Amino acid sequence: MTYPTTECVDCGTECLPTDDRRAEWYIVTDQVWAAAGIDKLGGCLCIGCLESRIGRQLTAADFPADVPVNDLSPTWDHKAFSWRTPRLTARLSGQLPLPFGEAIA
Ligand SMILES: [Zn+2]
Repeated sequence: MTYPTTECVDCGTECLPTDDRRAEWYIVTDQVWAAAGIDKLGGCLCIGCLESRIGRQLTAADFPADVPVNDLSPTWDHKAFSWRTPRLTARLSGQLPLPFGEAIA
């Protein structure tokens, strides 16, 4: 059995790095994932590639709030996924949007 990797299926960026790079590890609604044209277990997408696929910038409403990986509270600060890129944090928190398509920091 092969397991899906944590690399973006479109650009190959590691979405859950184990070094000091920041993570783009999140869950979006089934509607967003379907709009991206990717199977539920079809792999990972970085925020930039997901937004390219759906043709718009993600908003806080696209992320179910009841899952830990989307939770911005300090409760999860010890988890690797909480070391998020600025663009993922901006999307999750509903901050003013960063420029569309900016690179992972
Ligand atoms: Zn990507």
